[in-house]
Amino acid sequence: MYYLGNPSPMDYSELACAYESIGSTAKRLEMAALLEALFRKATPDEARMITYLTQGSVAPDFKGLEFGVAEKMALRAIGEATRLPEDGLLEDYKRNGDLGVVASEAMSRKRQTSLYATPLTLARVFESLQRLASAGGGGSQDLRTKLIAELLHDSSPVEAKYIVRTLVGKLRLGVAAMSIIDALAQAYVTKEQRDEVEAAYNVCSDLGLVAFTLAKDGISGLASIRVSPGTPIRVMLCERLPGIPDILKKLGKCALEYKYDGLRIQAHSSGGKLALYTRQMEEVSAQFPDVVGSLSIALKGHDAIVEGECVPVDQDTGDLLPFQTVSHRRGRKYGLDAAVKDFPVHVFLFDCLYLDGKDFTSVPFPERRKALMSTVRGGDGVAFAQSIVTDDEAEAERFFDQSISSGGEGIVAKSIAPESVYRAGARGWLWIKYKRDYRSEMIDTVDLVVVGAFAGRGRRAGSYGALLMAVRNPSTGRYETVTKLGSGFDDANLAELPKLLDGHKLKSRDKSVDSQMKADAWFEPAVVMEVVGAELTLSPVHTCARDRLRKGSGLAVRFPRFAGNVRSDKKAEDATTTDEMVEMYRAQLKKIE
Ligand code: AMP
Repeated sequence: MYYLGNPSPMDYSELACAYESIGSTAKRLEMAALLEALFRKATPDEARMITYLTQGSVAPDFKGLEFGVAEKMALRAIGEATRLPEDGLLEDYKRNGDLGVVASEAMSRKRQTSLYATPLTLARVFESLQRLASAGGGGSQDLRTKLIAELLHDSSPVEAKYIVRTLVGKLRLGVAAMSIIDALAQAYVTKEQRDEVEAAYNVCSDLGLVAFTLAKDGISGLASIRVSPGTPIRVMLCERLPGIPDILKKLGKCALEYKYDGLRIQAHSSGGKLALYTRQMEEVSAQFPDVVGSLSIALKGHDAIVEGECVPVDQDTGDLLPFQTVSHRRGRKYGLDAAVKDFPVHVFLFDCLYLDGKDFTSVPFPERRKALMSTVRGGDGVAFAQSIVTDDEAEAERFFDQSISSGGEGIVAKSIAPESVYRAGARGWLWIKYKRDYRSEMIDTVDLVVVGAFAGRGRRAGSYGALLMAVRNPSTGRYETVTKLGSGFDDANLAELPKLLDGHKLKSRDKSVDSQMKADAWFEPAVVMEVVGAELTLSPVHTCARDRLRKGSGLAVRFPRFAGNVRSDKKAEDATTTDEMVEMYRAQLKKIE
């Protein structure tokens, strides 16, 4: 049964008392029952407020509202409300480490001298907290402190405890979203309809809205909660399996995609505006102006929700870079322009959840991918996740190696069956990830021979962007490629490159060079450079030790960097050998925890 009308507003003390009881149980059922009792008495608005407050907030996460109340401000407000000296309150805080308890003890002491306080309604507390959050950290400190002090002044000790804990972000009730959903279902719908409540939450990521809707219109109201651009959808997650045979056994013929190692984003384009959300529903549009720019062009003229992975890219070579380079961009407020220039981020799209009025979440994956590819204009900074469809184990293994040597961290296998819908908020067997369980760390540098070069982009336009590097195989006398080297050069090194290499330039590939890559320029093997890398990996692209460790694969240096030395003391014949690479690979295999 849902709300039928209740004229007397709920007091905040009811919520605070329920929190006391919730705090003393670890049982999900009991927590849900306590919340259910509150929902049964609440108006739709109150149900919304209870829900947000129980999540420690006054809005859904994706609104990014924060109270921004530091310990110091809380202590000041408690002091103002109780007229107790702040020094003493600080001592109390140092002793018990919980500002909520400090507030409640202070209120008890004050109570002995204060005769009068107006009872606090839930709505009053909620609205005051809302005002505090909208003022954010930027509002005047004095005003914000006064607002808190006013609330505390009218609080009972237990109310003060939870108001302060909420404000400093330490409510810590241990009530997960799923328990709130249980409580909502118990209060407003039948047992069988619980999953519909969860499904509504998964498409709107806003439990307060779900609570309000249920309290107002019951289960039929949920039909109004639909996928819509601007409202992040809870992301679909992967299960994990330890190898390709297991995956193919589970899914049969399926789509395999590179698993990019970056930041998952859900991009919402609506009415010409574009917003980016993380998988935690945090809006990060401001941190990634380049991605917003490139996706706005790619999705121009469409209302759409697409998903992909943001990955930093070497602006000169186009190579994928380790994810840590992106972390420079997150949470950054200052120097963003420089960060965008130094660590440009590309997005590799892999799904489409909404397009021009149509909800695609219940559509099978192949159709979603088709919609994605036919709508998005790939271009600068926007590409589609590399993908194949196969049931062939050898082909899948090769694709996996290719992902690793290109900077990926494995593959994600995706069902292409008719039931392969986008399961918002769920981890399931429709998507299965497979990451490497071994890595071969490089603890030593190697001396590699330059055999080719690729034209530069960005700052290196008109010059060499990356060099094709090889080892020597003394038993065949041939040079076998191991990596594309573009990082680690400073401006002086770069300026030197043409001088160093142009004397060795050839019209076509040297006969002694084995390469599957087509370079833009070829050189006779002569110049040796010291190179350091993150690790050695199997690669279907490179020819070093091809077929020796795995059929169809060679060895490659992942994330290579010029170590600073051109080994003019070494001739091409003195470069690191194929056997040495194989030895290094075998000796350095390490299990990944
Ligand atoms: P994990 O974080 O290890 O659980 O792996 C799942 C994450 O892999 C997703 O949340 C995405 O951020 C990321 N990912 C990278 N490439 C893909 C892809 N092609 N399809 C789906 N997820 C991907």
